[in-house]
Amino acid sequence: AKARGRSCFAQFEPWMEEKERERAALEADLRTAIQEGQFALHFQPLIKIENGRIAGFEALVRWEHPRFGVVMPGEFIPIAEDTGLIIPLGEWIMRNAIKQAAGWRDGQRVAINLSPIQLRSARLLPMLINSIAETGMDPSRIELEITENVLMQDSEVNIATLHKIRDLGVRISLDDFGTGYSSLNYLRSFPFDKIKIDKCFVNDLERREDCQAIIRAVTSLAGTLGIDTVAEGIEREEQLNWLQGAGVTEVQGFYISYPFNVEELSDGRPFEGKR
Ligand code: C2E
Ligand code: CA
Ligand code: CA
Ligand code: CA
Repeated sequence: AKARGRSCFAQFEPWMEEKERERAALEADLRTAIQEGQFALHFQPLIKIENGRIAGFEALVRWEHPRFGVVMPGEFIPIAEDTGLIIPLGEWIMRNAIKQAAGWRDGQRVAINLSPIQLRSARLLPMLINSIAETGMDPSRIELEITENVLMQDSEVNIATLHKIRDLGVRISLDDFGTGYSSLNYLRSFPFDKIKIDKCFVNDLERREDCQAIIRAVTSLAGTLGIDTVAEGIEREEQLNWLQGAGVTEVQGFYISYPFNVEELSDGRPFEGKR
């Protein structure tokens, strides 16, 4: 199971039953939401640690629900996956993320989260090729983020698909690294361009020497393999300071900027972070 909340370890959650009711309500509305396009993409900057510049933005989807207000992806992506609606929703996300990013003047990268179900869909590659052609987007500015479980289930098929995607010039990132049943073996199964070290390791890093050791080990190994590294979930200056000497390539987190609507970027002012 995926790590929840602030810990690297799954926890018992007494409010589970209420969650079930919420889930049923959302599930009933999801199809209409896709037809009516009730979604928005927010973008969170990834910053190069060497010079503080924006390397790219990660697209994060939000559901602007007519009655409940903004619903976060943690609430509805699992439902979309269980119902198969992740295919049309994922297509909307990918097309829109690429379309928006194609217009960014400074040519920053766009990182798009890919569900394991999308990766198994025959529609993924044609849609990706079509989006790139329609927008004239440089494929090397697109990063698809996948999680380790993709390498556990149907791994041969998935790895073949990842190679086809990479042959287009699109980059592949391994997201949430270190959670789940992660194994360094996965790093041999595919030539990833980037590893995103999960925020649970960044969370308590000032106090936790084990987290520091893990981050150092991952960046050093990735460096040897020629893979970029991102530390996710930076919320405090002390974390950023520590990471400065840890060998990560990029940083991402609320301390640098919350995810935001990128239309706010085109107001002519230089980017100063949104927190
Ligand atoms: P993720 O891919 O690991 O995305 C990073 C999540 O961490 C985002 O939550 C982001 O807002 C949050 N975050 C960023 N900086 C910080 C920080 O400093 N502290 C903390 N505590 N959190 C931070 P969000 O947007 O709620 O997304 C949650 C998850 O939902 C994502 O985790 C991803 O697994 C999934 N998701 C989001 N957008 C999409 C999408 O377009 N497609 C798919 N398939 N999944 C998505
Ligand atoms: Ca991600
Ligand atoms: Ca992540
Ligand atoms: Ca995650």
